[in-house]
Amino acid sequence: MPLLRDIFINLSENQFLNNASKKMGLKFGAQKVVGGITVEETVHRIKDINNQGMSVTFDNLGEFITDKNDAREAKEHIIEIIRAIGENGLNASGSIKLTQLGLNIDHDFCAANAREILEAAKNENIFINIDMENYASHHATIRVVDLMMEEFDNVGTVLQSYLFDSAEDVYKYKDRRLRLVKGAYKEAPQVAFQDKKDIDKAFESLIRTHLTEGEGVTSIATHDHNIIHNAIDFINEHGIPDDQFEFQMLYGFRKELQRELTEDGYHVCVYVPTGNDWYAYFMRRLAERPQNINLVLKSVTKDPIFKTAAAGTGVVLAGAALYKLMARKK
Ligand SMILES: Cc1cc2nc3c(=O)[nH]c(=O)nc-3n(C[C@H](O)[C@H](O)[C@H](O)COP(=O)(O)OP(=O)(O)OC[C@H]3O[C@@H](n4cnc5c(N)ncnc54)[C@H](O)[C@@H]3O)c2cc1C
Repeated sequence: MPLLRDIFINLSENQFLNNASKKMGLKFGAQKVVGGITVEETVHRIKDINNQGMSVTFDNLGEFITDKNDAREAKEHIIEIIRAIGENGLNASGSIKLTQLGLNIDHDFCAANAREILEAAKNENIFINIDMENYASHHATIRVVDLMMEEFDNVGTVLQSYLFDSAEDVYKYKDRRLRLVKGAYKEAPQVAFQDKKDIDKAFESLIRTHLTEGEGVTSIATHDHNIIHNAIDFINEHGIPDDQFEFQMLYGFRKELQRELTEDGYHVCVYVPTGNDWYAYFMRRLAERPQNINLVLKSVTKDPIFKTAAAGTGVVLAGAALYKLMARKK
């Protein structure tokens, strides 16, 4: 459904809707895939997932920030969550997006924000992953990642299998904890595979290389059961120890599979996005899998605003029909 995908990608980039949604609270079924808005809700969500035997990586929603104050605010909020994780003794790490910390404003400013987060995390013995965003931010992200890796050992990053560069980067980061994904953005054919088969093939190759070439923990981040089962076969064949890999999935997606893998004794880490900037994230999830539109429809039809609007529309339609009928009788 490429058309629906493009519609949701466009909606995710709509600035008016992004701003409006921040004031609304979680709506349209977003609460099924977003862990909460406040630090307290985030802690509550992490505890709940930990109690189900899974770890968490939290993500403070928001990206492509253009104002330094917004970036500072995001940094402070992330540090608050990190401290709350430490105080509550939770099994959780953090995922940060550099465009949220000012990557598009100024490299040094962004690096300073990332450094503060990593220091706070180090104090609490917490790992931080630097997420990989769109290709336009890729090289700037890598510059900050490399700088942080020189200074900290509690930091890792992400490789996207659709990018041609990842085939080499996996060797560069072989001893680092890495999250491997297919890639969530729409990228040009000059830099990225376009065909699903090529992306999947490259993904499996990255997983195998990272599992066997270095010492870094491999986070296999996917909802694709085929990729997961093939990875498990490979892991068994090569006797890869349990503490060398984990499966990561997004909060609210394939809960059954998350539970099954946990019951089978695998480490499962749930990526929990939180915060009031949920709209673009939610739209991107719909773009990836338009079947998730069910989430929206179910929740929208239960929403009191929708019910009022639907009732209002009903009254107007009934009124119009009555008026037409009476006009005909005259
Ligand atoms: C923990 C995590 C972190 C991520 N971090 C990043 C990042 O930093 N940068 C980035 O670019 N991207 C990131 N992504 C997104 C990733 O790149 C993909 O866009 C996203 O995961 C969709 O691809 P997939 O591998 O899950 O499988 P897909 O290619 O979406 O699905 C493959 C198949 O799996 C099955 N399937 C998938 N989802 C479902 C479902 N919900 N229910 C039932 N069956 C399903 C279907 O059979 C489907 O055909 C992350 C993803 C995860 C899980």
